[in-house]
This record gives sequence, structure tokens and C-alpha cells, in this order.
Amino acid sequence: MTELVSDFLLPDLDGEDSAPFWSGTARGELLVQACAECGRLRFPPRPMCPDCRSIHAVWHRMSGLATVWSYVVPHPPLLPAYAELAPYNVIVVALDEDPEIRMVGNLVTGPDGPINEIDPATIVIGEPVEVVYTKIGDTTFPRWKRR
Ligand SMILES: [Zn+2]
Repeated sequence: MTELVSDFLLPDLDGEDSAPFWSGTARGELLVQACAECGRLRFPPRPMCPDCRSIHAVWHRMSGLATVWSYVVPHPPLLPAYAELAPYNVIVVALDEDPEIRMVGNLVTGPDGPINEIDPATIVIGEPVEVVYTKIGDTTFPRWKRR
């Protein structure tokens, strides 16, 4: 995993709903919350099932396999830490286990790859990707590489 010193916006690792997700990525595991009653996966994590309204949840480890569902290419004006890297890619992936579960990340060549190394013009909607983990400060982010 890569340790980067930065001024990136970082999530609250101790959030009541999201802490298990971030402790999972720190271990190299992609966890998604599921309803303990009906089994439906949901992301981002939240206190209640949107289907059956149960407040009981469990966490399931995902395979880390997904496909590119969409992407954007941010350009300045951006926050300084991001402006230095622009243009870069931000992708939305749909997980293989449930394509309705989508996560935002970056397409990279590997955990050490910068987020601006892949030409956005080469990104193809639907292309298969797999998770890699990049550490920034205390946060381990899931990112995605082609497979
Ligand atoms: Zn449910």
C-alpha cells in the first residue's frame, strides 16, 4: 500500500455507519453492508434497510471485482491538492456481486499509481476492473485497476 502525504479530503473513519467499511479497507477487504433480515446489500452504509426497514445489519466481504459504470474527468478550479493532479479520472464502478452497488474511485495501474496516469480517453464503460488499496494518511481507499 502507498502512504501519501497530502491535503486530500479524507473521510471520518469512526463514523457510526461507515467505520466497518474503513476498517475493512485497512485490512485489504472490501466490505459491503447487508440487511440482516432480507439480505439486501446497500452502499453507502446506513442505519436502515431501504426494502424492509430493518435496522439490523451485517457486513459481507466482496470479491473486489467490478465493471466501470461511469466516469468523469475533473478540471480546475479544484481544491489545491486535486488541481495539481488534474486532469485525472473519477470512476463509478458496479460490483460484480450486485451491479446496483456502486462505488466512486479512481482507475489506476496499481496501488502505487497516481490518479492521473491513465488517459481518460481510453476508459470504456463496462470494462472489468478489480480493487486495489491505496493508503493516504490513516485512510485506505479502494481504487480500481483493469483486469
Ligand atoms: Zn431488509
